Amino acid sequence: MPAKKVHIVSLGCPKNLVDSEVMAAALASGGYLLTDRPEEAAVILINTCAFIRPAKEESIEEILRMAAWKRGGNGPCTHLVVTGCLPQRYGSTLEEALPEVDLFLGVAEIPHIGRHLDGLFQPARHRHHSIIGKPTFLMNAGHRRLISTPAHSAYLKIADGCSNRCSYCAIPTIRGKARSRTIDDIVGEAELLAAQGVQELIITAQDTTAYGLDRKGRPTLSRLLRALTQVGGISWIRILYTYPAHLTEELLRTMAAEEKICRYLDIPIQHSDDAILRAMHRRGGGELIRDIIKRAREIVPDIALRTSLITGFPGETPRRFENLLSFVREIRFDHLGVFTYSPEEGTEAATLPSRISEKEKQRRRDILMEVQAGISNDINSTLIGTRQEVLVEGKSDLSGYTHMGRCRRQAPEIDGATHIRGGAAETGQLVTCRITAADDYDLFAEII
Ligand code: SF4
Repeated sequence: MPAKKVHIVSLGCPKNLVDSEVMAAALASGGYLLTDRPEEAAVILINTCAFIRPAKEESIEEILRMAAWKRGGNGPCTHLVVTGCLPQRYGSTLEEALPEVDLFLGVAEIPHIGRHLDGLFQPARHRHHSIIGKPTFLMNAGHRRLISTPAHSAYLKIADGCSNRCSYCAIPTIRGKARSRTIDDIVGEAELLAAQGVQELIITAQDTTAYGLDRKGRPTLSRLLRALTQVGGISWIRILYTYPAHLTEELLRTMAAEEKICRYLDIPIQHSDDAILRAMHRRGGGELIRDIIKRAREIVPDIALRTSLITGFPGETPRRFENLLSFVREIRFDHLGVFTYSPEEGTEAATLPSRISEKEKQRRRDILMEVQAGISNDINSTLIGTRQEVLVEGKSDLSGYTHMGRCRRQAPEIDGATHIRGGAAETGQLVTCRITAADDYDLFAEII
């Protein structure tokens, strides 16, 4: 039998992307061929996201779009498989809504994906439509991955699930309680990645600062980072998804002491108004956030801070929105993203009365993004004349610039890029540059 081709679509966050990479490797070692062309695939697998309404809509649109390859009958696609957070959250209720789908799999089935796809080609009587158990899966270094990010950069998933109980968030019910990998296991995977040429490790989890709280002996994120700095071949270590109330001085001091750790912190605060933070069940109020950011800037000078906010949460009166706006003006984050509040069924916040229209939520979001654009431009302009290490990621599409990449203060996908000129550079190479210009999001530089 010729090897069957599989096309994988990965939606959502970096944690979901790592799951897709684990499934890709399992299928490849199970004799399947991976193709990035759905029209060639016998099986199309969509690894979905479902944490807020827009993400759910995108997942369903993608399933229906891929189903066209199956329906048309003009391609080899015979089976559609849906994995990830959508089936984990909604279970077999999806079967009726999406009859095009042959198999719905929960996150615990990730390591068994090969067996499940083999099962699709068994006589119908042996087949299930949905296999969705408790979200217990936690990958380890033994779960090989087919890295889908550029070869020089990879996400490192240090834990799964979340034990925080933010009132608006469905992730704990989808992904289960927080469960951390061991330091040895994570270092083992980092060594494998480094051996493949990865230079940048991007630390990810739902709450990276909760790392180890669920494990005997409570290994800390700081200890893990120090161990990762010993992995040969790794040049940059970047930390995403930290939780303000879990940020420790120990972690900040480790960031200041270890050259490989990018002076970059993604610290989603969601809001700054005490009443809203209480209603969100976020630990710590605006004062705690202000203090931890002040400490971070004292202990790690020139640290770049990214955050994400939610507008239109129930009870966000115009005055409380003004509080948030002045907080953003005062703190001056380097990078900022804003979501409009989406009431998620099954969450406590969804039961709260709210009279804030979608239009008003969006208006508040636009105001914050506009203010932030000015702040980012100011901050980026202060970098003109400075030397920055840039990880080259490819050719620049801007005239007058040969390559584009990222400096340590820029995470992939979510922050701007650095466009460079004036010298030879290879993708994956670290080059030293002088910043010559800046705009709201991007930097422009010449190779020194
Ligand atoms: S920290 Fe809060 S918002 Fe983030 S995944 Fe956990 S419960 Fe959700």
